[in-house]
Amino acid sequence: MSQAIVFAETGGPEVLRLQNAEIGPPGPGQARVRHTAIGVNFIDTYQRSGLYPLPLPSGLGSEAAGVVEAVGEGVAGLAPGDRVAYAGGPLGAYSTERLISAEHLVKLPDGVSDETAACAMLQGMTVEYLVQRTFPVQPGQTVLWHAAAGGVGQIALQWLSAMGVHVIATVGSEAKAEIARNLGAAHVILYREEDVAARVRAITGGKGVPVAFDSVGKDTFEASLNSLSPRGMMVTFGNASGPVPALAPLELTKRGSLFLTRPRLGDYIATRAELEASSDALFRRLRDGTVKLAPSHRYPLAEAAQAHRDLEARRTTGSVILLP
Ligand code: NDP
Repeated sequence: MSQAIVFAETGGPEVLRLQNAEIGPPGPGQARVRHTAIGVNFIDTYQRSGLYPLPLPSGLGSEAAGVVEAVGEGVAGLAPGDRVAYAGGPLGAYSTERLISAEHLVKLPDGVSDETAACAMLQGMTVEYLVQRTFPVQPGQTVLWHAAAGGVGQIALQWLSAMGVHVIATVGSEAKAEIARNLGAAHVILYREEDVAARVRAITGGKGVPVAFDSVGKDTFEASLNSLSPRGMMVTFGNASGPVPALAPLELTKRGSLFLTRPRLGDYIATRAELEASSDALFRRLRDGTVKLAPSHRYPLAEAAQAHRDLEARRTTGSVILLP
């Protein structure tokens, strides 16, 4: 018997309920995984609130680490007892145990703990594709990264610093500014108090940055556009403050022939080869210590609602996990 968080209506964190679920043996191509640590991501709050609509009732969660309990027919390269992790596939990671298609699973190497994997798989592969494939950042460049003390942000700061990239980090409080500086931010902007675009212009001698990585959305989108140099790339990859309103293409022209993209992880780990390359790149950084994860915020699975409350109230820094 598995226990799983499910919700039958969209709304606040209180819609999340813990239920018993019978899961049965794995079907062809599937594995049964017993979770040891579960990643909580901002996208989970968009799905729960209805910003990203889902058929209901639904499970929740896209990321976890655990142990393979059984494999179905046709599964090669995985056996009971293997330590695995995933970020993607059907929702349902907020559970003690589940069935999942084996194609989403990667084996965890020695030196990457289950908790680290549950913190890092989704957020770390996101950083990998954003800085290496959406906009291949070059050493010596200066880039803008919003919400830099968050889960994705902390990994990005370390990853980019290790590449010799100068990061202008924005954060919501002085305590978070300290975290960003300690993780390698070259400059920190308190974006609720300061004029972001003006500061970016001042820091870059008027030129602006070649790329802005913006997951805050509504509140920062325009400042990000105004921070770019001509032919710069606006990477809008999240909506923590709400979705970005419609934009006329001429707004890009006015600011110097800008590029705009709205990427999502699923499209960058769409093939098995991409998933393996992205997770390998992340595991290399975790094992060589260039990316270290701050102690995560840990909650029992049954307290998933409280984890959501804290994440949405900006009370967390770094990663958040649930423990079954
Ligand atoms: P974070 O830990 O970064 O939490 C979100 C942060 O956003 C908060 O801590 C807060 O930081 C900031 N924020 C700004 N405005 C608000 C607001 N109105 N309400 C709440 N928070 C606000 O979360 P994650 O690391 O899980 O995710 C970061 C972002 O990246 C999310 O938007 C997520 O959806 C996106 N994402 C996108 C992916 C993709 O492929 N497109 C994949 C993974 C994540 P502060 O206090 O400093 O302002």
